[in-house]
Amino acid sequence: MRILLRDWRKEDLEETLVASEQWPSLSWQGLDITFKTPVQLSFHLSGKQGSLFVRGKIAADIEMACSRCAEPFVLPIRCTLEEVIPLTAKDDPEGYWESPVIDREQDELDLTELGFQVLLENLPFQPLCRQDCRGLCPNCGQNLNYGDCHCQVEEIDPRLAVLSQLLRQDKQSDK
Ligand SMILES: [Zn+2]
Ligand SMILES: [Zn+2]
Repeated sequence: MRILLRDWRKEDLEETLVASEQWPSLSWQGLDITFKTPVQLSFHLSGKQGSLFVRGKIAADIEMACSRCAEPFVLPIRCTLEEVIPLTAKDDPEGYWESPVIDREQDELDLTELGFQVLLENLPFQPLCRQDCRGLCPNCGQNLNYGDCHCQVEEIDPRLAVLSQLLRQDKQSDK
């Protein structure tokens, strides 16, 4: 979703734009991200005195792997943005005109790119399939959300592990 900036320089305008877009999968800081449903974008634009006031909402259902148990899960993300974008490259302290948000050649503002960047900022650093995800057993790799494995008891106290090993050896020598 793009808008031609030329139109907004001529006069003060106001407009609401909505779109539903299927975004491609991507890899972001080691996370593989898939968009399970089309991303819903809604923007309200108002141009005043050489600046564009942008308010937007982004809704996406993202599938990624849990950082603890590695199982894929879907995380609904809802975020909002509020930006003031200068309609020309001067007075641009935020650097919009140096970023992919603005296509200088086409003289366009890319609202999809703007929404995408805000979405990335809102992604969890360590996604969890649920708050109390128990993760994987470091010993046998079993997903502990599905139940306990058998190596847990021995791991609690290394002395117990030694003892049980001695008992085992004892039993073997009895035979
Ligand atoms: Zn998990
Ligand atoms: Zn285990």
